[in-house]
Amino acid sequence: MTSNKDIGSERELRERIAMHGKSIFDRGLTAGSSGNISVRLPDGMLVTPTNSCMGRLDPDRITKLDALGNVVSGDQPSKEAFLHHSVYGVRDDSQSIVHLHSTHSVAVSVIADINPEDVLPPITAYYVMRVGRLPLIPYYAPGDKALADAVAEEAKASHSLLLANHGPVVAGKSLDAAVNATEELEETAKLYLMLRNIPIRPLSSEQCEELQERFFNRQ
Ligand code: ZN
Repeated sequence: MTSNKDIGSERELRERIAMHGKSIFDRGLTAGSSGNISVRLPDGMLVTPTNSCMGRLDPDRITKLDALGNVVSGDQPSKEAFLHHSVYGVRDDSQSIVHLHSTHSVAVSVIADINPEDVLPPITAYYVMRVGRLPLIPYYAPGDKALADAVAEEAKASHSLLLANHGPVVAGKSLDAAVNATEELEETAKLYLMLRNIPIRPLSSEQCEELQERFFNRQ
């Protein structure tokens, strides 16, 4: 369990969520009112509000939910808060989750012949270290309870997920880690699309295993 000292005060967390949201929006990584960010609290979570633009988040209006999903303060939560709830429920080590409709990741999520067990090849070391295995969650209509169940099942073994025809859901041990991993995923999706018709030389399974070992040993 991460201490309060590590995750910062609720006030700091609200400000940092707004800061990251603006950074993500300003660089075109999610558009309109799409995307959401959450941070786990000892007694619930902070999550960006419904219909809010990530580029103009008011820290005071970010939603605080209790452990049962009831609103404690702020605006009504994102309609996708259930995705965050599903992941936190099965990942004790995850302190923050980012979900975007980032263009290149969404593009990859609709390709017909990708491997649903692990969508992207290990193109770079940082992708392996920050994202790791990326399973594809089948498409479900917005609000379908089966999506929450499918996300919870896959999140047990992977902190990074890609929702088919929708976008990535990435958990991290801190807000910074979740944001960085989501951005690494988006850049790797972009590289993958650039290289689609070019023979590539991804990292070998031995190289990936060595990275995983070294990276996780440092945690
Ligand atoms: Zn979404």
